[in-house]
Amino acid sequence: MTPMIDLHTHSTVSDGTDSPSELVAAAVRAGVDVVALTDHDTTIGWSEAAEAATREGIALVRGVEMSCARGGVSVHLLGYLVDPTNTALATELELTRDDRVPRLQAMVDKLAADGFPVTWEAVLDEADDVTTLGRPHLADALVRAGVFPDRETAFQSHLNSRSPYYVGHHAADPVAATRLVVAAGGVAVIAHPFAGMRRQAVTDDLVAEMARAGLSGVESDHRDHTPAQRARAVDLAHRLGLFTTGSSDYHGTGKPNELGENTTSPDVLAAIEERATGVELLRP
Ligand code: AMP
Ligand code: FE
Ligand code: FE
Ligand code: ZN
Repeated sequence: MTPMIDLHTHSTVSDGTDSPSELVAAAVRAGVDVVALTDHDTTIGWSEAAEAATREGIALVRGVEMSCARGGVSVHLLGYLVDPTNTALATELELTRDDRVPRLQAMVDKLAADGFPVTWEAVLDEADDVTTLGRPHLADALVRAGVFPDRETAFQSHLNSRSPYYVGHHAADPVAATRLVVAAGGVAVIAHPFAGMRRQAVTDDLVAEMARAGLSGVESDHRDHTPAQRARAVDLAHRLGLFTTGSSDYHGTGKPNELGENTTSPDVLAAIEERATGVELLRP
């Protein structure tokens, strides 16, 4: 039997709804053999997830998903098995997390100015254990206030990056972020590069530039990719000598994504483990 490997998930330290230990337990229940915790812009969930993985008998890849941008295009970069104490990487993650606070406050102010029933306190109420605040927490506050039925609807309208209520935040350039991950001993994989709902698409040239900076892989099998986008990702990865991954991007009840709905091959996991020098893959 091929092990089930899911290399992209989020917990309550960013915009997931399961705590790191609940997420690990949910992965075991879903039949996942190897799970990666990849919260947005933080590694703070790692220790709780590692304890839970040992207890539950599941392998854990410690990772992070960096929020990057170039020219208004949002790019998400997965960094696997990075050294979390690497100063350059930790500093960049902190810059992004810190700037997310005034950014989200600005979005709240714009919405409140137009009469929407939302306050900064209400947003913080939705973000108890959160280290990386994001639009999903604002969405949750708007849902609680009865403005939208769910996160998805909020993202389709006022929280969308094309909405007048949208405000950006500090984000590393994707090539610089790739270099940071590699310098921190990690393995860099571009997340859902061709997913819709983004302002503009990631270009093949940008992925090629990231490949020259040390990118190892492309996440091709992802719910937000159509079959044509998956094929494009596989083709591009082959041309650039990169591997491809598949993952759920599980966010608990925050999104419909189910653990193990897309998976990565054992060969690719072995390549990730072999290339990484930051921290070890934890096995039960
Ligand atoms: P931010 O990083 O604060 O700009 O928010 C982006 C995050 O919102 C992403 O990490 C997604 O997980 C989440 N997100 C984007 N679209 C949706 C959606 N339609 N439903 C739920 N969450 C979403
Ligand atoms: Fe997210
Ligand atoms: Fe993402
Ligand atoms: Zn993600």
